Amino acid sequence: MQNVENKVVIITGASSGIGEETAKVLAKNGAKIVLSARREDRLQKLAEELGDENAAYLKSDVSSLDDMKAVVTLAKERFGRVDALFANAGIMPVSSMSQLAVEEWDAMIDINIRGVLYAMAAVLPEFTAQKSGHIIATSSVAGIRPVPGNAIYCGTKYFVKAMMESFRQETISEGSNIRTTVLYPGAINTELLGTINQARIKSVVEDIYKKVGISPDAIANAVLYALSQPDNVDISDLVVRPTLEG
Ligand code: NDP
Repeated sequence: MQNVENKVVIITGASSGIGEETAKVLAKNGAKIVLSARREDRLQKLAEELGDENAAYLKSDVSSLDDMKAVVTLAKERFGRVDALFANAGIMPVSSMSQLAVEEWDAMIDINIRGVLYAMAAVLPEFTAQKSGHIIATSSVAGIRPVPGNAIYCGTKYFVKAMMESFRQETISEGSNIRTTVLYPGAINTELLGTINQARIKSVVEDIYKKVGISPDAIANAVLYALSQPDNVDISDLVVRPTLEG
């Protein structure tokens, strides 16, 4: 696959689901992966599976800028540079606004918004200096179509879409040569529904995923596709959803 071999890629949210699967697919295609998430046992196991020469990991929280800087430092120590960031970590504690689940709102802002920004803040000095780089961020179909009952999550994913499009245009005017890709997944079978705290809503969403959900390799392959393009081709937006999803 063109343009992936030996690329050094940081993945946040690499301990499960989309991030884990993407790490496997990219490593299989010759990339060097730096795994970031909070569950260290999961990261260690995955790094062992990918092989010491292909992967490094750091227990790290995307809502900490220091943690994100430490991940970049690790990438440079182990593999000499950073070529791409997959800003993917996220949570989806679904609830209606009227339930005033303010702590969950804050957690989504910290992880789904601040987490993407802090990971970008950590890699951007490298990308700007080397005049190359690729930032891939996970939004959601919830970032292109608001739905009732999931307002804050939709808001965080709209943020990713808007921020990344503004950033893409800045990279052109600044001549930094940084590529951007925003992914909009539909229902993907991962551990995401485990972040829903309200039992009734959780079971409704689980039923939908059981009916239509698809494997995270659909998203991993989309990341591979975007990353493998020549340097002058920017796959800016990709919606990847189950065929049966309405
Ligand atoms: P998972 O729950 O399987 O993975 C989420 C990942 O995010 C885990 O690795 C988790 O690791 C990590 N994470 C959560 N909080 C933090 C934190 N504070 N710091 C660092 N890492 C964190 O779900 P998915 O793979 O589905 O989710 C990946 C992304 O895809 C999310 O942004 C989600 O919103 C998005 N998405 C998912 C869809 C789906 O249907 N599954 C649809 C649309 C978008 P750990 O807990 O170890 O820190």
